[in-house]
Amino acid sequence: MAVAPRPLVGALSERPQTVHPGPVVDQRFFECAARIEHDLRTRFPEITVRMVRDPDGDWECEVRDGNDYWGSVGSWDDDDSVPSAEEVEEFTESLALNVADNLWPDELTDPWPLCSLHGDHPLQPCLVARRAVWQCWRDEKFGIRVGDLPPT
Ligand SMILES: [Zn+2]
Repeated sequence: MAVAPRPLVGALSERPQTVHPGPVVDQRFFECAARIEHDLRTRFPEITVRMVRDPDGDWECEVRDGNDYWGSVGSWDDDDSVPSAEEVEEFTESLALNVADNLWPDELTDPWPLCSLHGDHPLQPCLVARRAVWQCWRDEKFGIRVGDLPPT
């Protein structure tokens, strides 16, 4: 019995069988955005974070809270090369920093993400052991991987 060819739509979620750099690059960036989105949703349940192409064809990270457009941060020159795991972590850390510094609503002054160890200060995005983490600045042993913030 002949098996019908699988539709191409939705195939991105499967591991590609052939080497084609485009989707691999895309997948890595979707992962960066998904980690930021996961963490922001602990504070803003409606938020969406997506990697979109800017008019020059490079990637940027777009943040929306429901219908409220926060803005775009980060820029990645798409040269079709596959970024290393380390580059992905660096990019994730820079996105987290950019969102916190440049897109965060001015009227919200409560610390975020709150350090669960001390309870009185925000964690800072930084690279620790080549991984993007939300880091406590008072105890270097306390940090949470970006994308792993627990629900509050
Ligand atoms: Zn702390």
